[in-house]
Amino acid sequence: MAVATINPPQQILKNYEWLRKQLEGTNVRLVIVTKGVPPSYIQPLIDVGHRDFGENRVQEWRNKYPALPDWIRWHHIGYLQTNKVRYLLPRIYWIHSVDRPSLMEILNRRAQRLNIRVPCLIEIKIAQEETKHGMHPDDFLHWIEHQEWRHYPNLQFLGLMGIATYTENRHQIRQEFRLLRQLRDEVQHRAGKHLPNFHELSMGMSHDWELAIEEGATTLRIGSLIFRETH
Ligand SMILES: *Cc1c(COP(=O)(O)O)cnc(C)c1O
Repeated sequence: MAVATINPPQQILKNYEWLRKQLEGTNVRLVIVTKGVPPSYIQPLIDVGHRDFGENRVQEWRNKYPALPDWIRWHHIGYLQTNKVRYLLPRIYWIHSVDRPSLMEILNRRAQRLNIRVPCLIEIKIAQEETKHGMHPDDFLHWIEHQEWRHYPNLQFLGLMGIATYTENRHQIRQEFRLLRQLRDEVQHRAGKHLPNFHELSMGMSHDWELAIEEGATTLRIGSLIFRETH
């Protein structure tokens, strides 16, 4: 994929207003993904009051957030190496990409030391592509069945995150989103009283957000649609 140049601020705002209009009447949370986007291009969105932003690289985020207001809710959405955990806590708002017990272990330990609870989503591998991170659905069901969450009292599990296959095949994308929703429902069914806040479905990006909403997304993660396209 070629990375298009960043839009001028006026177009960024236009795209944002367009998307907000599309989302009217839904309760969907919009996380604007700012990877590759300098603070000066994010500022117009902050000026109109947007609060939720996402980054997928810890280092890039660390270079960026000090220049921006501290009331921003930063979402970490990318693969997370355990040695980067200490940079995220306690500043990060949600971590969408918790995908393995070894990472949970480190996050929990760090959170314990800081005496905080960290809101986490578990990333599930729903795509066919080999390259995508995420816990395998079967491993996740096993994790739930064995009540593994009990090992991590300082993590607050809010729901699931997934990235669909990058394809023109809308049917396939829908099936992948549907799988994520079914897994979320399964958790509520099997462990709802232990995990009462487990309702989030972070799914849907610039090219598949409409399908994601139809399949029950509660949170969209969108970058290019706002920063690099015209709407
Ligand atoms: C980049 C990214 C997004 C946003 O993708 P766009 O296609 O630019 O909207 C969403 N989620 C993750 C994990 C990403 O890395």
